[in-house]
Amino acid sequence: SEPFNPERTRQQFPILSQQAHGSPLVYLDNAATTQKPESVIEAVNGYYREQNANVHRASHYLSAKSTRAFEMAREQVQQFLNASSSDEIIWTRGATEAINLVANSWGRANLKAGDEVLLTCLEHHANIVPWQLVAEATGAVIKVVDIRPDGELCMDSFTRQLSDKTRIVCVTHASNAIGTITPVAEIIAAAHNLGALVLVDGAQMVAHQTVDVQKLGCDFYVFSGHKVFGPTGIGVLYGRKALLETMPPWQAGGEMIEQVSFSGTRFNTLPFKFEAGTPNVAGVIGMAAALDFLQSLNMPKLAEYELSLRQKAEAGLRDIPGIKLIGQASEKVSVVSFICDTLHNQDIGLLLDQQGIAVRTGHHCTMPLMERLNLSGTVRASFSVYNTEEDVDRFLSAMRLLVTSEYHTDEEFQGLAVQRSG
Ligand code: PMP
Repeated sequence: SEPFNPERTRQQFPILSQQAHGSPLVYLDNAATTQKPESVIEAVNGYYREQNANVHRASHYLSAKSTRAFEMAREQVQQFLNASSSDEIIWTRGATEAINLVANSWGRANLKAGDEVLLTCLEHHANIVPWQLVAEATGAVIKVVDIRPDGELCMDSFTRQLSDKTRIVCVTHASNAIGTITPVAEIIAAAHNLGALVLVDGAQMVAHQTVDVQKLGCDFYVFSGHKVFGPTGIGVLYGRKALLETMPPWQAGGEMIEQVSFSGTRFNTLPFKFEAGTPNVAGVIGMAAALDFLQSLNMPKLAEYELSLRQKAEAGLRDIPGIKLIGQASEKVSVVSFICDTLHNQDIGLLLDQQGIAVRTGHHCTMPLMERLNLSGTVRASFSVYNTEEDVDRFLSAMRLLVTSEYHTDEEFQGLAVQRSG
């Protein structure tokens, strides 16, 4: 098949043709959120122009239209993840809400004092804090799998921490801060052997590699629409049907009930039991268009292309004195994290921004990982389908300039440093 064509892909993203501070925009903050192709913008726009109505409620023309599109999108996500039934796909606001749903519904119903929840050092705060709250409420204990110096998950540590007290293992499929891909299949097999469930945080994975939840065998899988070319405010919880059926509702209201009276309430069946209130219908429609876009690309070719961008960036950074790459796992998504001897990560972010280059700096919502690495933060450049070799070249020449010029005696840099501390 033909090679991946970044230029043609890039043309579908209108936002990328603008200037930022007088330079062409180089968007390298894709791990925070991806840009949206024309087709997603049009789908959301078209929904409000032609289909808008509440779903699953009224018996009129528009409601039937929006309900059909809404449920077709659910089936599309089912196919996207290769779930065995669309009842296993729950719409949420994002990965964060999906994890909170599992922690509050499954966690509060099943965890007892002394039970263990096994997390990893690589987790985003979204896969830590909900478990801390439920641990506080139930008396369960949080355990943490360590990493190796190169940023790979330490499987010896995993084996040591996993025990017959472990009730659930919550692990990211790929680290947003340093890019590490974790061996989730191996983790799931070992956890299931001891009767523990596994929740996989796929927020950083689904835009980069094909995911098959049945092949993985995970119990829960979560992701956010906005990191996979879709709108903000929409995400997915996949859960094994038999498991979801045993779980109590979390949020309550309309849509999630079958029968309500003041003497008692019967809950709706899956997936509606977990979807209280009017959902983000426009977000769901946008998500469907985003998955259409992603599925129109050749995923293995895309992964190869993103790898080439990452390797080019890593090689270029290695040649700049004073730069240290953080996280060099053998399997990574297209995330490059680094620090610099002479410049604070926030100053690098500001100085790159002045040249139109968007990166993320700081702790990346992974403070325990930063603490483990003994860092206050890093600079992170993350690549996606529309980034080009030219983007990487511009980023690298900007970095070379920043590091080699005498910024520390420059008024401009002094100004930035003051701004940061102020
Ligand atoms: N997990 C990971 C690994 C993430 O990168 C993020 C977003 N940075 C989240 C969870 C939370 O996603 P959201 O904010 O979209 O709910």
